[in-house]
Amino acid sequence: MSTATLPEPLASQNDPSHAAHPSPLWHAFADMSKVPETRVVLERGQGVWIWDTEGRRYLDSTAGLWYCALGWGREELAEAAAAQMRKLATYSTFGDMTTNTTLELAERVASLSPMPNTAVFLTSGGSESIDTAAKIVRRYWNVLGRPEKRVIVSRGMAYHGIAGFGTSIAGIPANREGYGPLIEDVHVVAADSTQELEKLFAERGHEIAAFFGEPVRGAGGVYPPVAGYWPEVERLCRQYDVLLVCDEVITGFGRLGAWFGSAHYGIQPDIITGAKAVTSGYQPLGVVLCNERVQEPFYSGKAGVLRHGYTYSGHATACAVGLRNLEIMETERVLERGAEAAKAMVELFEPLRRHSMVKQVRTEGLLAGIEICEDARKRVPNVVDQVLWQARKNEVMTRNMLGHSLQFSPAFIITQEELRFYVERMLTSLDAVAARIA
Ligand code: PMP
Repeated sequence: MSTATLPEPLASQNDPSHAAHPSPLWHAFADMSKVPETRVVLERGQGVWIWDTEGRRYLDSTAGLWYCALGWGREELAEAAAAQMRKLATYSTFGDMTTNTTLELAERVASLSPMPNTAVFLTSGGSESIDTAAKIVRRYWNVLGRPEKRVIVSRGMAYHGIAGFGTSIAGIPANREGYGPLIEDVHVVAADSTQELEKLFAERGHEIAAFFGEPVRGAGGVYPPVAGYWPEVERLCRQYDVLLVCDEVITGFGRLGAWFGSAHYGIQPDIITGAKAVTSGYQPLGVVLCNERVQEPFYSGKAGVLRHGYTYSGHATACAVGLRNLEIMETERVLERGAEAAKAMVELFEPLRRHSMVKQVRTEGLLAGIEICEDARKRVPNVVDQVLWQARKNEVMTRNMLGHSLQFSPAFIITQEELRFYVERMLTSLDAVAARIA
């Protein structure tokens, strides 16, 4: 192995004081033997910019973990949280209790839904929303006297979070390995093949509860669907009586320009899961939107109590922040601004597409996956991390997706100037790594 596979010397990547500083913090999705070498400690944010504890600035090209739609540092969201906390931080929504703020958030989210008369179940994030959706679809068929309909179908390279059902239906094989037996009666199909889906539905439709899919596969590397995919999936689900669940944890609340990716692709699912941008990540909140068909057995008394819910389902402070966030998104035309940025992005990314280190740039809405060429990845296994570290030095915070692509999912309020900054700094970073590994 050449020396090019080694990370840059510590001091030039980040301040060694962070590295030297031992911490009991066990980072998420991390190899803890390596984290101390490159740890970044972040402190402050404004718009699309974040600063670390050494005062270094970065353009946050991923909006945190895809969520900070509004950008950082919005006082109004802090005010909304503080005001709610002063009144009543939260109260359990188990049984018949709730707060007005929780009721209002549900109403606001339902008003944005592409499905008429949507019911909104609340959680604390995407993984909980996925497990909620999975339990609802299985229970739905059970109550309707069809308990054999319990198979959940998902797509290759899908990411549906890391709780029980989400791990079990993961299309990224590494995310399910090593945990022993997971939830049974799940099935992964090729991501873009409606033929395979039709064959499966024709053979096993009587056992299939639901099809789960991300409108654009996100954490798997940002893969937009092939043309016509979603309307065909919707048609097949209707034909074979399979519930359609769109996992909109990334695409929900405006990332593709419409409030939901389902609306963007012109389909009406039975259930939509969401999280992230509903609060711009200022508070943890997840949503599960259910259409009238799914609600019926639970709202008519047939199903009795749905024995499912989280301590923080409908958390009033999270809902207060969500409400304020959605209000600002409307009053400041944030979706339209995101759509304009997305349009500019496609053009401004041309030089990235043409770079010798880049295999492909996939875009949809304000999302992009920048795939590093295979030759470099073969020669230098950590080349994507090298680009990422180099980008940090050049004031861009980005994210490695599965060792092949870099994530681009900025705040919707990113300006053309900031987009240009990103492209320039990424080109410089790619050049530097290309020269180092040549
Ligand atoms: N579904 C999708 C499509 C996601 O992208 C994610 C998170 N990136 C999740 C589910 C899980 O959400 P969380 O991390 O909030 O549990």
